[in-house]
Amino acid sequence: MYNNTKHYINGEWLDGISQETVDVINPATEEVFGQVGRGTKEDVDRAVEAAKEAFIEYRTWSVDDRVELLDRIIDGYEARKEDIIETIRLELGSPVTKAEEVHWQAGMNHFVAARDALKSFQFDERRGNHLVTKEPIGVVGLITPWNFPTNQTSLKIGAALAAGCTMVLKPALNTPMAAIILAEIIDAAGAPKGVFNLVNGKGSEVGDAISTHKDVTMVSFTGSGVTGSKIMENCAKDFKKVSLELGGKSAYVILEDADLKASAQRAVRNVMNNSGQVCSAGTRTLVPSSVYDAFVEEVLTEIDSVVVGDTKDESVEMGPLVSLDQYETVQQYIQKGIDEGAELIAGGLGKPEGLEKGYYAKPTVFSKVDNQMAIAQEEIFGPVMSLIAYDDVEEAIEIANDSVYGLAGYVEGSDLEQKRYVARSIRTGVVMIDGVPRDPMLPFGGYKQSGIGREWGDYGIEEYLEVKSITAYYDGE
Ligand code: NAD
Repeated sequence: MYNNTKHYINGEWLDGISQETVDVINPATEEVFGQVGRGTKEDVDRAVEAAKEAFIEYRTWSVDDRVELLDRIIDGYEARKEDIIETIRLELGSPVTKAEEVHWQAGMNHFVAARDALKSFQFDERRGNHLVTKEPIGVVGLITPWNFPTNQTSLKIGAALAAGCTMVLKPALNTPMAAIILAEIIDAAGAPKGVFNLVNGKGSEVGDAISTHKDVTMVSFTGSGVTGSKIMENCAKDFKKVSLELGGKSAYVILEDADLKASAQRAVRNVMNNSGQVCSAGTRTLVPSSVYDAFVEEVLTEIDSVVVGDTKDESVEMGPLVSLDQYETVQQYIQKGIDEGAELIAGGLGKPEGLEKGYYAKPTVFSKVDNQMAIAQEEIFGPVMSLIAYDDVEEAIEIANDSVYGLAGYVEGSDLEQKRYVARSIRTGVVMIDGVPRDPMLPFGGYKQSGIGREWGDYGIEEYLEVKSITAYYDGE
């Protein structure tokens, strides 16, 4: 599993044309634990050719047949649970418990959601004696980031398979191993050759080759805005459809009548989840001035309880950052926060005591943050929480919306009417009230610079479809 340097193309594990490999590093130990192939444009050409050929047949598969394929993938995903958990622990540095509860579970939820949404999906709609029908868009390129190795991949694969598309996946080079297991699962589930293809490699090589390939009709991308923009530019040349899930800088709004202890617990856990490497993290905590000091006390108590350490230890909830690069970026932002005059009240620069090896950062909290500071405007992608005071609800909404991003929002309080008002006023694609988790059947995606399109459940399937209208399809008037 840890040394598969081949690519999965046309139902076979093939050597790359170049045979070059790339090391995969465990961020908790800084040691290499495996290699994957460094794919090339020629490998992408082979994979797209296979997907194009497979599309001819797969697009005609009945809903029942596609549901059965997803059923078999779900069974395989369950059967490979231990491998997936261990792989994500090693490649991402996720603590073992989180690798199961967050990462493995998310992948399962998305495969199940794709299957269940497919069962009741309305592909055909009769209008008089005409038909409006939805058809698979074709060969799709799936390009994913490293922060949720099975979440991002399975939600795209599940929806594309449900829609009747064939595909080429390029996972992030930091965390390519879980995707290799997914390819093995899909192979064992009996997907026809060429329906699913996996080419590992660099974004600027494999990702670029996918997004410029003339036979790829759509690219579904999750990652940074800079890369998203580049992919969109590539796709503009021949009018490929794009679906983009990008970054965020979400507001976590604490209302005056919120349960301060419970909401501080949830807000802290929200930011520290996955070492802060979460696009939808509520990293700007907006706190009423009237309860600010009391809330800070609760945050300080809570942050002390976040256990950082050995990813094999079941009591540990926060592991390292994914790479040295990510560690250095987070350190630079912490320094910027200090330089900008925010008050550092927990954590800070350097590594937690006793964790000198590995890319570990400290759970960090800044108080008295101004929303114009870089730490409040830019995505840090690390365990850094910024507390921002506000005087009334209108000001909270204004601060929440004063961001180039529009991915998620959070509201905590007692008055349902007020929570609804704030939730509707925040300009984001997702809002969570009182920490109630999202249902994988609900649409997920961002406004503004957080992206284009929606994923998850039936909205996710919709992304991979074209709409066709046929006149006089039915007999009659
Ligand atoms: P990234 O943009 O650097 O890389 C994402 C993927 O794109 C990788 O597979 C990479 O190899 C590939 N890539 C890089 N350059 C490319 C190019 N020129 N052409 C084609 N592909 C290319 O992002 P990352 O650092 O892996 O992930 C972190 C980012 O992802 C953060 O900004 C985060 O907010 C975002 N993200 C968003 C969501 C969401 O659902 N909105 C979810 C998770 C992560």
